[in-house]
Amino acid sequence: MEKRENTADHSDKLFEEVGGMVEKGFPTIHAESHRTESGTPYLKSPGVVMISKPNTNIEGMRPFLEGFDPELQFPGYLDDPTELPDSSQLCKTAGQNCYASFGPRRTTNENAASYFERLTSAGHGSVLEHSNFSFLLYGISRSVTHELVRHRSGLGVSQISQRYVSGSVLRFVERPEYQNDEELHRLFEERADRAAAEYDAMAETLLEKQEGGAAALSADYKTDARKKVQQTARSLLPNETEAPMVWTGNVRALRHVIEMRADAHAESEIRALALRIFLCLQKADPILFGDYELKELPDGTFMVNTPHRKA
Ligand SMILES: Cc1cc2nc3c(=O)[nH]c(=O)nc-3n(C[C@H](O)[C@H](O)[C@H](O)COP(=O)(O)OP(=O)(O)OC[C@H]3O[C@@H](n4cnc5c(N)ncnc54)[C@H](O)[C@@H]3O)c2cc1C
Repeated sequence: MEKRENTADHSDKLFEEVGGMVEKGFPTIHAESHRTESGTPYLKSPGVVMISKPNTNIEGMRPFLEGFDPELQFPGYLDDPTELPDSSQLCKTAGQNCYASFGPRRTTNENAASYFERLTSAGHGSVLEHSNFSFLLYGISRSVTHELVRHRSGLGVSQISQRYVSGSVLRFVERPEYQNDEELHRLFEERADRAAAEYDAMAETLLEKQEGGAAALSADYKTDARKKVQQTARSLLPNETEAPMVWTGNVRALRHVIEMRADAHAESEIRALALRIFLCLQKADPILFGDYELKELPDGTFMVNTPHRKA
């Protein structure tokens, strides 16, 4: 079995193999929507869309840098000929502010990778907290999102509300194990059709009861009535129901999640998600995520690792 190594080339190749694109500077890996014969929508892989990343204005520091003794040559900090991704620049500037490392003896942008290597290998990860990235994550099941939201530190989550949305946006996620097995695939499609039909039937029954004045469902407002119907009907939805979210994290937290969830021991669906998040992040910032190794596992899937875990 071929072992892929930790080069950006391999990450770039895999990014393309899983359908990655860079649109206006934002890496994205989309997931296609499929339908059963009865029309129930489902997805076969995670969709990862980077929707926000840092926009850094170090030029704004000029009056601050010019306020020091001219012999220190601090304004020269702004003339570095090597341009970094905004996320790297932000963290590097934050770190260099700690020692007022703005003069000619500072680490220049050309050596940014080794600057971060020193920080991450020493566990000084706090400067990585300045850069945040946001993603739309979709094509992910409720079981995966339950695992993802266990990560709390440095992360923000806004997930679809099964109380507020109706059955019209219900989609399901087919696990990789089912996709190439005719019987498991058929059973999955039957289950998705059944869950969608049962949800609709239950919502209709609950609505009738609510309109008939059932005490447990009574509500004063239309939204509240809908919420009461949907929050009850959702109880029958399976773990393989899609649960999209917008997910934001700072680089320190994102690195930890990748290390835990793109690891060989992680569950396969969340590993597929963490791998895609990593591929998008390394594309957006090959310096802050440049120490990660991509390795192919015996089953043909991939894991990610770094010698500098938990910076
Ligand atoms: C392979 C695998 C199997 C798992 N199996 C199970 C399971 O069977 N059952 C289960 O319940 N969970 C399970 N988990 C979830 C796991 O226990 C963690 O809850 C999850 O990985 C979140 O990681 P974290 O605790 O590092 O949290 P994060 O929020 O990612 O925190 C990052 C770091 O910040 C620090 N931190 C965050 N919060 C606190 C705090 N309150 N106090 C002190 N320090 C803090 C810690 O150093 C922590 O590592 C599993 C995870 C993995 C990867």
